[in-house]
Amino acid sequence: MSSSTTETTSPHGFSLEGEAYVEAIIERYRQYVNPGLARLMQFGGFGDVEVSAGGCVLTTATGAKYLDFLGGYGVFSVGHRHPKVVEAVHRQLDRLPLSARTFFCEAQALLAEQLARLTPGSLQFTFFSNSGTEAVEAALKMARVATGRTQFVSAEGSYHGKSMGSLSVTGREKYRKPFEPLVPGVSFVPYNDVEALAAAVTSETAAVILETIQGEGGIIPAKPGYLAAAREICDRQGALLIVDEVQTGLGRTGALFGVDHEGVCPDIMTLAKALGGGVMPIGATIATPPIWERIFGENPLLHTSTFGGNPLACAAGLAALEVIQEENLVQRAAERGEQLLAGLRAVQKEAGGAITEVRGRGLMIGVEFAVKDVAELTINGMARRGVIAAYTLNNPKVIRLEPPLIVTAEQVDTALSAFREAALEAISLLEGLEETVE
Ligand SMILES: *Cc1c(COP(=O)(O)O)cnc(C)c1O
Repeated sequence: MSSSTTETTSPHGFSLEGEAYVEAIIERYRQYVNPGLARLMQFGGFGDVEVSAGGCVLTTATGAKYLDFLGGYGVFSVGHRHPKVVEAVHRQLDRLPLSARTFFCEAQALLAEQLARLTPGSLQFTFFSNSGTEAVEAALKMARVATGRTQFVSAEGSYHGKSMGSLSVTGREKYRKPFEPLVPGVSFVPYNDVEALAAAVTSETAAVILETIQGEGGIIPAKPGYLAAAREICDRQGALLIVDEVQTGLGRTGALFGVDHEGVCPDIMTLAKALGGGVMPIGATIATPPIWERIFGENPLLHTSTFGGNPLACAAGLAALEVIQEENLVQRAAERGEQLLAGLRAVQKEAGGAITEVRGRGLMIGVEFAVKDVAELTINGMARRGVIAAYTLNNPKVIRLEPPLIVTAEQVDTALSAFREAALEAISLLEGLEETVE
């Protein structure tokens, strides 16, 4: 009985297999999840069902194997189902998966200690939640209480999440507009523009919130000196600097944190994606003692979360931090990143003007195309060649590559040849179409 269940595609006793299984699952998305999303995924070349994954490889219900060069937008930094993370979560699962919420929790205590040790400057206390957007919500609330001010300055093209507060500081009108009025007092400035930031931050500003590389904005790294200037501007006005490292944190950019490239210390840092070791969801908001005193000094329950800091998530987080250190993933991200950048730039030369820029840091790399359709066709073509990539939410001309940091040099080469073939094919296809139209 148990052996036959492991052989079928479904862990839920669903009896269909292969194409029929895939169609049945997609049909349920159409009926019960999100019909538009189902169309979008099928159109994008992802009309299959994920079944299992390990390392950098994802297997689907039709038996296809994909090299995961999207890496869950930064979730799978230690790879899929890293044995050490899985084992840590198993151990915790067999004892106490969720907190009874009355006694102290070892995993939470140890993870908070590690985060204090690893994060820069005087970042010391951690509030745990379950996602990136929750980590940002907590940061915004802390900044208001700590400064007694209500205004925020954020960057155009930024992405900080989709709950009401985080959305209010997310720099893309398309996602904000339908939900207005949002949290008031937020102004947006062009990213990487020091003068604009200096002009926007006043004695009313509670905090400036920035990414160290804009992820959804199109993989746009902070220019040298920008974050340091932001730090100075905040200090001058008595505003706090929140750095959102939900995507860039924990080795992704070839440094443990994106701010480490500049030696900048934020007042509040947010983490999520990679912190759960690709096994559990978790969010973390880390801040300095004075900020903690302001928010929790009088009322330690002023901000709470039922599931935040649960033993399973913290066990995964502890194991993930160990793996990142033991396997030297920060250094490896830097090295594989160089290889990937160099390979992509070679394809850019071959592609004439169709690829306008290749940019990024570590294993957070963006390829900007002149035309959105070419980017889309390239993603599709890569999928057909067994490599997963995606575009950035706020800039569909940009393909993002964010493989697990454990990716090997050979896997990078495989992805590069898939990218090259897919991009050149897409470019010639669209050139052909244009000629037919003329
Ligand atoms: C993904 C992301 C978020 C939101 O995280 P969720 O877990 O999707 O809520 C916030 N900030 C940044 C920089 C992100 O990349």
